[in-house]
Amino acid sequence: SKMREERIKRTKTVCTYCAVGCSYDVWTKDRKILKIVPQHGDANQISTCVKGKFGWDFVNHEERLQKPLIRTENGFREASWEEALALVSEKLGQIKKDHGPDSIGIIVSSKTTNEDGYLMQKFARSVIGTNNIDNCSRYCQAPATTGLFRTVGYGGDAGSIEDIGKSKLIVIVGANTAEAHPVLATRIKRSHKLLGQRLIVADPRENEMARRANIHFRPRPGTDLVWLCAMSRYMFDHGHAKLDFIKQWVNNEEEFRKSLEPFTMEYAAKICEVPLDTLEAVALEMVAADTMCILWAMGVTQHIRASDTSTAISNLLLTTGNYMRPGCGAYPLRGHNNVQGAGDIGASPNNYPGYQSVNDPDIRGRFEKTWGVPLSPEVGMNNHEMMVGAYEGRFRAMYLSGEDMISADSNANWIAGGFEKLEFFVVQDIFFSETCRYADVILPASPALEKDGTFTNTERRIQRLYHALPELGDSMADWKITQEIANRMGANWSYSHPSEIMDELASLSPIHAGVRYDRLEGYNTLQWPVASDGADQPVLYLNGFPFPDNKARFWPVSFTEPEEQLDEDFDLFLNNGRQLEHFHEGNMTYRVSGIREETPERYLEISQELAEERGMATGRWVRVISRHGSLVIKVLVTSRVHGKQVYIPLFSQEGPVNVLTGSHADNATHTPAYKETAVKIKVLPEQ
Ligand code: SF4
Repeated sequence: SKMREERIKRTKTVCTYCAVGCSYDVWTKDRKILKIVPQHGDANQISTCVKGKFGWDFVNHEERLQKPLIRTENGFREASWEEALALVSEKLGQIKKDHGPDSIGIIVSSKTTNEDGYLMQKFARSVIGTNNIDNCSRYCQAPATTGLFRTVGYGGDAGSIEDIGKSKLIVIVGANTAEAHPVLATRIKRSHKLLGQRLIVADPRENEMARRANIHFRPRPGTDLVWLCAMSRYMFDHGHAKLDFIKQWVNNEEEFRKSLEPFTMEYAAKICEVPLDTLEAVALEMVAADTMCILWAMGVTQHIRASDTSTAISNLLLTTGNYMRPGCGAYPLRGHNNVQGAGDIGASPNNYPGYQSVNDPDIRGRFEKTWGVPLSPEVGMNNHEMMVGAYEGRFRAMYLSGEDMISADSNANWIAGGFEKLEFFVVQDIFFSETCRYADVILPASPALEKDGTFTNTERRIQRLYHALPELGDSMADWKITQEIANRMGANWSYSHPSEIMDELASLSPIHAGVRYDRLEGYNTLQWPVASDGADQPVLYLNGFPFPDNKARFWPVSFTEPEEQLDEDFDLFLNNGRQLEHFHEGNMTYRVSGIREETPERYLEISQELAEERGMATGRWVRVISRHGSLVIKVLVTSRVHGKQVYIPLFSQEGPVNVLTGSHADNATHTPAYKETAVKIKVLPEQ
């Protein structure tokens, strides 16, 4: 038995699913995963959720890509790395020569490591010569980042997950925390139950946190901006705005107060369809609490007013003095494990690593010096603009890592059409995704358990993951693949370990200045900004805000009605979201048999009222029709949704909900407005 014991390997890793960033030991024997053992991780202590605990079998799934694939006239054929890399570098080189660097674009996966992402953006900028680089937060979190950039300067959580537990009042807007960020939700549940923490949930659907809340209210979809602005106005009107804090730390008070004029409580009650006394009770909770955290996610960010609503959240936190102290502030809840990191390392068309603008000639000069090549001063295309460019013939080639855009974007048919227009399309992934169908070359990457690197979780915490398993078949870590392509296109990179990539990032990005692998050994973590002596910062805004005068700024916003309105024909409002057991498009969780069998098939949640009105019961088949597409689905009658609202889980094995959602998007970021879709239901004959 000692022999057997010796063959068991224990490796510290970080969860590959959500951005809570739970860390734990994984016990393996050869390629078999024996168990997950949490060890007091900084984000999760000794907790994990079902995905972290049981969600790992996908790494050995028979469908893992193990060899490069090249498109032929009749499907794909396996190829050697040599052949695939030569083809990719030649084609990209040729397209760059014929049509210029801006005809090529790159998408970084927010599931890969900081080091993988850093090298991909360096490849785009210094080898291809374009700022056409983006990541999947375009689909989820870009509006939250925009709202925070406008007001407080950094797109990141204001404090740590531990802080959330200490806050007096938690306000959750449009986030299904118990299912999407389970271990973080546990902190709130505990503090709410044991420490008298107050909880307010604004959500059209009664999710688990809403059921536990002191106040749950259901704003009409797309109207959160209005009640948030009304709260700010109420604070000024009733003498509860923190004027001393504002005077010292916030610019633009006068213009902001003027912008709040329309937003009376009565107006908010009417527009949001929430009783006036409920809104007043919410305001009183905010007045009574000396620390408040506002948490939000896709219920806010997937609307046409998403960036403005995120801005309104931050304005309200500034009005009530809820920044610069532990236990308060803005908490955009990132989705994928490394959404935060992908933005931080510069997978963005307007920023270099560390949120440094590509427009700033001094900053550009520093990158040019380190990388040894001139860089483009033009802001690049985001992933939406790349697709528009493909339709217009300006955009010809894409190198995409780990992002299943066909399943994830809001209008699957439109994206597929864009892919078909590309002259050359490279997809790097661990499985053959829907998107792979459109690729010319598919490169087999390695999942987290097969590589070293770092992830940055939602609270800006940088954590190391270690190589637990050998690469399966011919698959390779993403950074190695990118380096191979870059070197075939004239670069001369010689990174031999991700730590060297981190050292380069740290030398260029002030928020990463003191990040080094030896400071992240084992369970050690750092929350950016990290000073060069290694001091990190759990509270993001300790000494002011990253603007020239050190002050935050109020950013006025206004309201317009959602683009997709209900009418006589399309008379129901469709919402969608996550399930606890599955992760996003499910390309990993669907390949974990234990998880797959636990969860039911796809369903449409409808309210009691609607069920009675239309004579439908649970189990009845219906066709759901939007202005963009339709699908057939079974009904589930529930008290979670009310009135004319219906709900479908974001993803399922029967296909994603995005055949129903349209192309309208947040006006500032192009994040698709998945949560704004009018539908109708046709009840199908009983079978
Ligand atoms: Fe993984 Fe998130 Fe679950 Fe933690 S809460 S185990 S990070 S999926």
